[in-house]
Amino acid sequence: MAVDRRRGYYDEARETMSPSVRRQYQSTWLGELIALAWERAPGMRRRLKAAGLGVGDLRDPDSLAKLPVMKKSQMPDLQQADPPFGGFCTVPLGKLRRIFRSPGPIYEPMGPETGGFHAETGYYAGGFRPGDVVLQTFSYHLVPAGHEIDESLQLVGCVVVPSGTGNTETQIEIAKSVGATGFVGTPSFLMTLLKRADEIKAGRLPFEVAQVGAEALPESLRRSLEDDYGVMTRQGFGTADIGMIAYECVEKTGMHLVDEAIVEVCDPGSGQPLPVGQIGELVATVNNRTYPMVRFGTGDLTVLTDERCPCGRTSARMLGWRGRADEVTKVRGMFIHPRQADEVAARVAGVVRHQVVVGREGHQDTLTMVIELGPDAAAENARPALEAAIRDIMKLRGSVEVVPSGTIQEGAKKIDDRRTWD
Ligand SMILES: [Zn+2]
Repeated sequence: MAVDRRRGYYDEARETMSPSVRRQYQSTWLGELIALAWERAPGMRRRLKAAGLGVGDLRDPDSLAKLPVMKKSQMPDLQQADPPFGGFCTVPLGKLRRIFRSPGPIYEPMGPETGGFHAETGYYAGGFRPGDVVLQTFSYHLVPAGHEIDESLQLVGCVVVPSGTGNTETQIEIAKSVGATGFVGTPSFLMTLLKRADEIKAGRLPFEVAQVGAEALPESLRRSLEDDYGVMTRQGFGTADIGMIAYECVEKTGMHLVDEAIVEVCDPGSGQPLPVGQIGELVATVNNRTYPMVRFGTGDLTVLTDERCPCGRTSARMLGWRGRADEVTKVRGMFIHPRQADEVAARVAGVVRHQVVVGREGHQDTLTMVIELGPDAAAENARPALEAAIRDIMKLRGSVEVVPSGTIQEGAKKIDDRRTWD
């Protein structure tokens, strides 16, 4: 009988909690986590004290905003001052199972407890089932991905083939020999394996389901993996520091947040949470009792939605990765990003080049999208369509100026901030 990869939950009660029950659930683990960190993680105690906070001050998700964000970019210095983990590990070194070193350099501990990476919920939601034999092609040395994902797959009940990166033809041979139904790795490597198997006439690879990450998954690539090769392909979002905090379900409508992470989208400058629907920096607090990352600023930009997902899961969803926080510009209180400018331009046919110009008139910011049109495009059609796209994507009112071909320089900045403040 065929496996049903589209229905069911890893933990139904948790994944379908009502907002008030989820808030209670997260408040409970947050309170326990802060108490533990206060007692055993001197780095965390230093942070709380510096903010004038005591152990009882962070009791629920809303109260977290009292603690300044700890930026990922600060971690190498913090760890160098108090090696190896910056005072953020709650467990004596000799009790750990593994220590990783990620680029930065940043060191991460893997605790005595299992499941600290929180990827199992996402693997199940993405179609992995007990008994799947999974080729795990993320790296097994230095960075945490390989070992942490390996453990999450085993929690689901999968059989892991720890094949690591590279070695395309060996991977093809392994996948065929063991009848691998699952794949974990980058989407480009999955496509490489499938195409290479065709080229060397190795026959169809047995993959039915894939969880991909660490790079963008263009919809065109996903369509090809799913339609041409029959591999149900979902993605997750995670980093070495905070684990897998979000995953796609069968619906592909953004990435559900795991219940073991409290995710805030914040003003990259002030660190204050922004309303749902605004673009900002992803700040995560994760229930990892060995390495409690509290208000960890990833430097990545995202947007959340709390609209109900048809899959039945009730958690909010991350609407994809929207670039790095150091590339944003604030216009009338809203952050805009070069990728949003590209999204606006892509909505209208015939736009050859584009640049967003931010200016100032009196005490008001102005936003003008300057465009060059191709020979077949009509300015009177493009202008209202682009203005609507600006409202929809950037949540701002903007005007559109059509300029002659050659006006916008090759390689010009996507967002040109011409405001002066003196
Ligand atoms: Zn869903």
